[in-house]
Amino acid sequence: MDAQYEPVIGLEVHAQLLTRSKMFCRCGTTYAGAAANTHICSVCAGFPGVLPVINEHAVELAIRVGLALNCDIAETSRFDRKHYPYPDLPKGYQVSQYDLPLASRGYVTVGNGDDCQQIGIVRVHMEEDTGRLLHRTAADGTVYSLVDLNRSGVPLLEIVSEPEIHSAARAREYVMKLRQILRYIGASSGNMEEGALRCDANVSVRPVGEQTLGAKVEIKNLNSFRMIDRAIQHEIGRQSQALANGGRIEQETRGWDEAAGITLAQRTKEYASDYRYFPEPDLPPLTVSEDRRKAVLGRLAELPDARRARFISQYGVTADDASVLTTARETADYFEAVLTHLGERVPARLAASWVTGELFRLLNRDSLPITETRVTPELLAELVGMVHTGEVNRGSGRMVLEEFYETGGSPRAIATERGLMQISDTDTLTPVVRTVLDNHERAVAEFRGGKQQVIGFLLGQVMKQTRGTADSGTVRTLLLRELSEEPTKGPVPH
Ligand code: ADP
Ligand code: MG
Ligand code: ZN
Repeated sequence: MDAQYEPVIGLEVHAQLLTRSKMFCRCGTTYAGAAANTHICSVCAGFPGVLPVINEHAVELAIRVGLALNCDIAETSRFDRKHYPYPDLPKGYQVSQYDLPLASRGYVTVGNGDDCQQIGIVRVHMEEDTGRLLHRTAADGTVYSLVDLNRSGVPLLEIVSEPEIHSAARAREYVMKLRQILRYIGASSGNMEEGALRCDANVSVRPVGEQTLGAKVEIKNLNSFRMIDRAIQHEIGRQSQALANGGRIEQETRGWDEAAGITLAQRTKEYASDYRYFPEPDLPPLTVSEDRRKAVLGRLAELPDARRARFISQYGVTADDASVLTTARETADYFEAVLTHLGERVPARLAASWVTGELFRLLNRDSLPITETRVTPELLAELVGMVHTGEVNRGSGRMVLEEFYETGGSPRAIATERGLMQISDTDTLTPVVRTVLDNHERAVAEFRGGKQQVIGFLLGQVMKQTRGTADSGTVRTLLLRELSEEPTKGPVPH
């Protein structure tokens, strides 16, 4: 059934901007955990007769986002009042941007290789966040709501995509990519659990081959990647089913019921005219000169895709490692710091595999951010350098890393103290190899009978004898040399 219908999805993402103060007043934005209504003033609480002042840093961050999303930045944009009655909106309107948004006509690239897609960005505009309602139930069962305005007036960006997404998985990928970019450029924490990034999904379906778009349903407040995935999938199924049964889709707003795993009708869709938009008379037009735009562009951090490509071309890191290393800016910075300490003599690929392999295994196990580990880039570089020169082998290196990950301290000191420095000296290893051969006559006979793979077993025995510190390449050479010599035991043929 589903195969007859093509899903069409457009996303509206709201991101709180990482400013210290609110959009139009000096109230702080770090109110998490604070008592209700302790971070408010007459402006963000909507008193009459007060004047808003535009937060310049919010504008800077918004321009950054516009540029990072390949948008045109409007030289002149404007704030408008968007009216709707809601208890968490004390003014009765939200200051937003309507027909003249700050940024428009951009795109975001998602997927890799053949699966790569540019998803159009219709617009990026600035607005202010609303307050919050806290729903309570009294002892007698009466349900009531409290208003907390701490969030009211926090700078918010709305990023609107073109209806160019055709699966729930791609929608999720798109939001992940947006979040990654927002974090890279320091524009938003992107934390969905804290509500700093929120998503509304517009979903329609149409018969495959049909050009015109079907009526869309807007699913509000998808606050996790899992919700985005499940809600969109469910909605695609619901609409396809309805059409297949000869029904039609009403344009409406629905909510996602996480427990039931279904979308539920909330209200019929409101139209722009319902909001009675008009220009905010208390704010001047927002102007961004060409010079300012260029200055912001100059300050923009290297974006994840560009950094990934550079890691591959400049350092010769594998495509997979490059993706992992550039997922978060902190990780990419960490990796480049390791390389700085290593210098040219050690291949970057080796360093990459230690970061994405051994270090990440420990960090993931403990859910520890890379910025908080005792394994500084300098210490990891020291260890990787030792692995490269053969002073420790990979297995011992792993043990050394585990130890200084827990306790701190120098890799070299730990390796020496624990007797983990690699033995590659043939004078030391030859007697061990001989002892192993003497103790495993059967294996030796098998090898001589043509069973080559027995060498692995013998190598393992030598590693065991040296507590894993022997250089396996040297041991292999020694084993082959000893085994190719005439048997020393038994009758020697004349
Ligand atoms: P509205 O005026 O209802 O807010 P917009 O045209 O501004 O509608 O679009 C809002 C979002 O809905 C955008 O992300 C857009 O891509 C998406 N959208 C618009 N039409 C459709 C459709 N028929 N199916 C799916 N998404 C759509
Ligand atoms: Mg809209
Ligand atoms: Zn305020």
